[in-house]
Amino acid sequence: MNNDQILIVDDSTQMRDFLAKVVLGPEGFSIELARNGAEGLEIALEVNPALIITDYAMPDLTGLEMVEELRKAGRNIPTILITAEGSEDIAVQALRAGVMDYFVKPFDPLALLNAINRILKAAKVGSIQLGVPDQRRMQALNTLIAVGKSVTALHDLETILGQVLEGAIYLCGAEEGSIMLVDHETDELYVHVSKNLQEGLINHRLLVQDSLAGRVVSSRQPLLVNTDKMERIHTGHLVKSLLYVPLQIGDQVIGILDIHNRMSDSPISRQDVGIIAALADYAAIAITNARLIYDINSAYTRLDATLSGLTTPFFILDSNRQLLLCNKASYICFDNLGDEDDPTGRNLSDISSNKSLISLIDCVERGETFIGEVPIADRTYIMHVSPSEHIGMAVMMQDVTHYKERDREKSELILTVSHQVRSPLTAILSYIEFLNKTGNLNVNQLEFSYQVRRNVQLITDTINGLLDLGRIEAGVTQLREPVSVAGVARYAVEALKGEVASRGLSLDMKVEEHISEMLGDSAQLRQVFVNLVENAIKYTPSGGKISVAVEEREHQIIAQVSDTGIGIDPKDQPRIFDKFYRAKGVAAKGYQGTGLGLSIVKTIVEEHGGRIWVESVLGSGTTFTIIFPVAEAS
Ligand code: ADP
Repeated sequence: MNNDQILIVDDSTQMRDFLAKVVLGPEGFSIELARNGAEGLEIALEVNPALIITDYAMPDLTGLEMVEELRKAGRNIPTILITAEGSEDIAVQALRAGVMDYFVKPFDPLALLNAINRILKAAKVGSIQLGVPDQRRMQALNTLIAVGKSVTALHDLETILGQVLEGAIYLCGAEEGSIMLVDHETDELYVHVSKNLQEGLINHRLLVQDSLAGRVVSSRQPLLVNTDKMERIHTGHLVKSLLYVPLQIGDQVIGILDIHNRMSDSPISRQDVGIIAALADYAAIAITNARLIYDINSAYTRLDATLSGLTTPFFILDSNRQLLLCNKASYICFDNLGDEDDPTGRNLSDISSNKSLISLIDCVERGETFIGEVPIADRTYIMHVSPSEHIGMAVMMQDVTHYKERDREKSELILTVSHQVRSPLTAILSYIEFLNKTGNLNVNQLEFSYQVRRNVQLITDTINGLLDLGRIEAGVTQLREPVSVAGVARYAVEALKGEVASRGLSLDMKVEEHISEMLGDSAQLRQVFVNLVENAIKYTPSGGKISVAVEEREHQIIAQVSDTGIGIDPKDQPRIFDKFYRAKGVAAKGYQGTGLGLSIVKTIVEEHGGRIWVESVLGSGTTFTIIFPVAEAS
């Protein structure tokens, strides 16, 4: 049992109770308590305890100030400091003030007891000089602080590793050393930085499997060897003492900090292993940082080279539409930019006044990947906007001016041919009608004339569709009058009510009140809804449901036509707005059509400054969504 007197100075009742009743009481110490630094000073001067345990942060007088006052009064009482934060500055100040040890909360009570017993024993036999700073611990701390600052300041790797190695050699009083790294490809250790190492050893490579250093890599434990004669240990060279400490990141050993003595007889102390391990941790962090920075830089360089080589415009926006990355080719999109300006980091709305581009980006915020046409100067681009997770969106553009021109020529040709074919087709239809009137036809003749009429009707529908499309594409009417989208949607629903009922379907119409008008051609806009509702009727089996909805949100009119029909395969979805494109298998299943309805719809919508897209699940149904801009108040 111990009956030394210990003074506990702490402003926390809990801490005082814990130390007195749980940690020190059971050991038999005689305990004095003080609630703050001033009281601690008074009691210490009065009772002259064998040891003081003091908190650092206390009102009025800190633990360190109390120690200073005692020293001034000529009392060098062994003191242990307890701090709340592990600040290196406080640790250095404490050691300077002659504090024997310090603990950071939360601490291990057993470690505290060990320290108390060690200090009391040393004080009794006079093996410590009370009140005199512990030089070795000061040196160790100063070295750790300096290296720590280099690592956090992200100095270059060689500087940091040089500092680590020098610090380790200096602290252990060793002669030489090196930092070896593991080459994972060859499973060898090679010297990355060295100090005072013999020439021949610098380029020496050690096999991980077959060397003492390699054993440290596998065991992940430091290794200390002290002998009194020169020994050729597995390193291949003669040493008297040697310390290997693994450089470790997580479970992986990336290298070894090695220090040794060849000449000196003084052994490397076991007590130094802890501090050298801390230095090795800094080295490992610095190496990992350097590797990460290298990886990031090379990834960025590769990305930059790839983007610069890309002749099509490409850029990435964050969710606030700030430009994160772009290539030179994309500068054509940013018309509010000076010649010298770098658009990166700027907001899209500040650097671009292109309404089509901005409205497409508005659309992607509602859906998935979006593709649309954007005119820039006298050229036309197809713009692909894809949301990219956690970042924003990626935008890729392709110049399609040439294809547009070819497409226009093709359309003209089709228009001319269509006109030419129309008259003979009308003649065929008329003859078929007259055939019925020339006398009674037998069953076969009736069936054949029906088939001729049906097929001629399909050709006529196709030609009418093509002519419609040609007119719309050429902007022949270009009528722009205030139109109520709700009104045109209602018109389509009314016109097709009979067909809906005869096909055994139900139709639900939801139109918000007071929807603003838009500028447009009411006949064309009626056609949009008629085509969409007709498709919904055609592709929805009996018993299904069709819904038409119109609402207004943030200066945009949003219309939707949904059905519970056969749906569209995701593979077909990107192409259904193309001329003549019909989903695989619809013709075989007997759904008659020309593949022109949706091209007409899309052309009209885009001519009106709107956007259309489809969402569909095969076998469950389809929704077409259209967004139109509201007419300006003027
Ligand atoms: P079609 O005359 O073939 O109906 P459209 O241009 O109107 O031509 O539509 C193109 C294709 O898109 C159709 O052939 C069909 O495969 C698909 N489609 C259009 N609307 C729907 C819908 N509501 N449900 C399922 N598929 C549809």
